[in-house]
Amino acid sequence: MSETTFKGIGASPGIVIGRAYLLDRRKVVVAGKQIQDVDVKNEVARFRKALEASKAQIEDIRKRFTKDLGRSHRYILDTHVLLLEDRMLVDGTVKRIRERQVNAEGALRETVDAIVRKFDAIADEYLRERKHDVEQVGERVLRNLVGRKQESLADIREEAIIIAHDLAPTDTLVMRKDKVLGFATDAGSRTSHTAILARSLGIPAAVGLDKITAAVKTGDVVILDGIHGMVLVDPDEETFLDYLKKQRSFKYFEQELVKLRDLPAETLDGHRVHLQGNIELPEEVTTVADHGGAGIGLYRTEFLFLNKPDLPTEEQHYQAYRHVVERAAPHTVVIRTLDVGGDKIGLPGNFEKEPNPVLGLRAIRFCLKRRDIFRPQLRGILRASAHGTIKILFPMISGLSELRDARSMMDEVKAELRAEGVPFDDQMQVGVMIEVPSAALIADLLAREVDYFSVGTNDLIQYTLAIDRGNEHVAYMYEPLEPAVLRLLQRVSHAAHEAKIGLAMCGEMAGDPLYAAILMGLGFQFLSMNVASIPWVKKVVRSVRMHDAIELADLVMQQPTADLARRTAEAFMHERFPDLVAEL
Ligand code: PEP
Ligand code: MG
Repeated sequence: MSETTFKGIGASPGIVIGRAYLLDRRKVVVAGKQIQDVDVKNEVARFRKALEASKAQIEDIRKRFTKDLGRSHRYILDTHVLLLEDRMLVDGTVKRIRERQVNAEGALRETVDAIVRKFDAIADEYLRERKHDVEQVGERVLRNLVGRKQESLADIREEAIIIAHDLAPTDTLVMRKDKVLGFATDAGSRTSHTAILARSLGIPAAVGLDKITAAVKTGDVVILDGIHGMVLVDPDEETFLDYLKKQRSFKYFEQELVKLRDLPAETLDGHRVHLQGNIELPEEVTTVADHGGAGIGLYRTEFLFLNKPDLPTEEQHYQAYRHVVERAAPHTVVIRTLDVGGDKIGLPGNFEKEPNPVLGLRAIRFCLKRRDIFRPQLRGILRASAHGTIKILFPMISGLSELRDARSMMDEVKAELRAEGVPFDDQMQVGVMIEVPSAALIADLLAREVDYFSVGTNDLIQYTLAIDRGNEHVAYMYEPLEPAVLRLLQRVSHAAHEAKIGLAMCGEMAGDPLYAAILMGLGFQFLSMNVASIPWVKKVVRSVRMHDAIELADLVMQQPTADLARRTAEAFMHERFPDLVAEL
């Protein structure tokens, strides 16, 4: 036996080690037989009976598990029941039986395949993934037709990691949560139901592993890492021990999470720091509160433009933002306007490929050029501001005129809305991202014309040090504690405090516990990060005194190299907070 590693997509975080249970979800092999005229009625009746049996099974699951069902679960079951009544599926199959004179199994398989092909042509990833619902419903009916037992995860007796080609929501619903350690599937993406459900059930999962079912047998020892989407089959001793350690620290993290969630992010001497979450999809909004964050410090809105044949309408902007702002209440949501171009998603419309896109028509530059695309977004954000507290954030601002241009466009949109009698928050705060060195250098000028700054270190480091943030060859130079970067941060902080405006950071630097005290010492009041980092940073915030943080920041600022700055930070943390460092 030798260790084999499968790399897929991390669908639900956590690490589990255990025995595999291979769930038989092989497709039912269908013999599509020709039938006689006289058999048509009989085949249609068989098909309808199998439909009814399938519906009864799903209803049964719904009844048995009804008290455990969250809204998303209920919605999935409803979708499956609706599919069993869907005209394309039902009438399509019946028509094939009648017209082509094939048996029910053959007709159903052909119909399902035809529907799936239609889904495959859909550009939108989320909608395209819904084809799995059709396949799963089709498989259930087929099993009922051929009389094959529906193997159920409710019957599992021993603790196990479930390995399957794909899991239907009905599988995940009935599974005994006390027995299922995690699951790993060949199919699936981050937005497949399996992934969504795994996250909401808190069960570690990796999906999109391609051929894992071919490599694993029931009883094999496997390690499932749902954080990185990895599965290791028959791990050797070293890997095993390594993952035991990782598992322990992750469990610790989870326990801490529970403890810290409802506690304020406040220093020992009573200074409040606002810890917020960065999100990209509207449905992520609830995970921020689950991790103990207070509001959204960066809502990247590019997803509205992803994989769509058409540009989003004002209404789609409005609905997405309203969804988030209502769920985040009473907390604030910082909505960043479109940041296309660069290393991100391509420019919508017919723009020529740029020779150097990272220095090209990116973010606000693009929006000010394509006002027809920018305007609906501004209108959507403003309209959503009537439903909660929104702050708008302009990305990639490099000078005052750009900011003024964007603001005057916003004023125009406000005037339009006012004239139309459409409500919006006239006091909505306006901020700029500080992620281009020129903006950091003129922070004092910008500060007079905005309500807050949000520093995007991902880009600020890239542009300050002239290193491509996505290039692995220069990744070793990507260093937040470079004196040049720290001086810019200090400068920005100084300008914000002079002008008495808010100071936030939403780049990845904000989510690293090692930097938390430094950033607090530099005067950052808002730190926004990926949700998983919130508990760690909260732990630091709650363990320090503000004057310690200021002392640390001063010390770090005096270092001539990043290496020394890092060592200073580490030594300081070791000395002052040995327990904390050991835990971290
Ligand atoms: C940043 O640049 O730090 C930032 C938060 O924006 P993005 O990562 O979306 O470019
Ligand atoms: Mg950026």
